[in-house]
Amino acid sequence: MQFGFQIGTKVLFGKGCLITNKALLNKFGKKALVVTGKGSAKASGALDDVEEILKEYKIEYSIYDKVENNPSLENVAEGGKIARELNVDFIIGIGGGSPLDASKAVAILAANDIEPLELYKNVFDNKPLPIIAIPTTAGTGSEVTPYSILTRNDMKTKMSFGNEDTFPKVAFIDAAYTESMSYETTVNTAVDALSHAMEGFLSRRSTPVSDALAIEAIKIFGECAEALIDNNIDFSVREKLLYVSMLGGMVISHTGTTIIHGLGYSLTYFKDIPHGKANGLFMREYLKYNYNAVNEKINKVLELFKVSTIDEFGDIIDKMLKNDINLSSEEIQLYASLTMKQRSTSYNAREVAEGDLIDILEKTFLSPN
Ligand code: NAP
Ligand code: FE
Repeated sequence: MQFGFQIGTKVLFGKGCLITNKALLNKFGKKALVVTGKGSAKASGALDDVEEILKEYKIEYSIYDKVENNPSLENVAEGGKIARELNVDFIIGIGGGSPLDASKAVAILAANDIEPLELYKNVFDNKPLPIIAIPTTAGTGSEVTPYSILTRNDMKTKMSFGNEDTFPKVAFIDAAYTESMSYETTVNTAVDALSHAMEGFLSRRSTPVSDALAIEAIKIFGECAEALIDNNIDFSVREKLLYVSMLGGMVISHTGTTIIHGLGYSLTYFKDIPHGKANGLFMREYLKYNYNAVNEKINKVLELFKVSTIDEFGDIIDKMLKNDINLSSEEIQLYASLTMKQRSTSYNAREVAEGDLIDILEKTFLSPN
């Protein structure tokens, strides 16, 4: 048996964990930049709690609240410039995956006056500023991953970077901050977390430890499936989903993702489909495609979901997400070729050819006319 395991993030999990451990915010300097989206930090209640603590410790702070959904290189360049000019000591990311991913790029750009494209070199003269991450969605696990996934308009897709220095230093993971999410965002982000666990579990890079985390995540997601379908999502379900999300983040920190994410990026880039939903729509065909390569593991996924066939599994996901997308043959060709360029495609259990991706896309989306 051979594996490595590293999570560079101190995790505090549970209701009230930020207030209980507030002294941690006082360890990273005297000036902070809060990086967030237009509404999530306030709606979740996390920003109020953070501001109260910063004022108590007399930490000076500014707020950059212009992070877009699926942030672009241009977007993080603006945040990074502001952080550099303000000369802040640390970054506090509050929000879903978009603000958390942006905060990693901002932390690097604050310490390095480089072009945003150079983020993808993944080697920097100066270490990024310390990042505190406070998730307000339960899906990406970005609070415990090193990854920052940014929209590249130059390549018409999304691409990630990250190294061991871009793990947030501390993550405050409190389901109370996820209660203000809409039903759709709750479901979409939950499916993203499932996708991380499942893709990591079936990945060529999976390890015994990442598998243990993935199995726990898939099992608990299965326990929440009915509540998600019925829109009967109480605090204990929200807490479980946030736990699944964190576990999924720890899994992909070691395995990366695979073709579900690669294909999903095109649906997000070209059709504006939310990230988690974009992933979920591919799950049925992804499992069928990979079945022969990793049948024991896929049988385990089905067992954890308490179903006996991939179609029964797919039907559960279909009850959560509406597939209202039709693609033309040209779009299918383009998405398949873009996915072939993603590094994560090579981590898929089966060796992937472009024609395989076309087949998955056609089975999922080809318009009848
Ligand atoms: P998101 O894009 O961060 O947020 C989606 C929407 O939900 C936004 O409108 C956001 O509002 C709103 N929202 C978030 N929390 C809320 C709350 N508590 N109450 C009310 N509204 C709330 O969605 P996400 O799915 O969490 O993140 C997606 C991004 O993460 C993608 O770019 C994806 O590629 C990336 N990702 C990263 C990793 C990783 O390892 N780093 C893994 C998977 C995905 P605001 O506009 O106010 O923010
Ligand atoms: Fe994801």
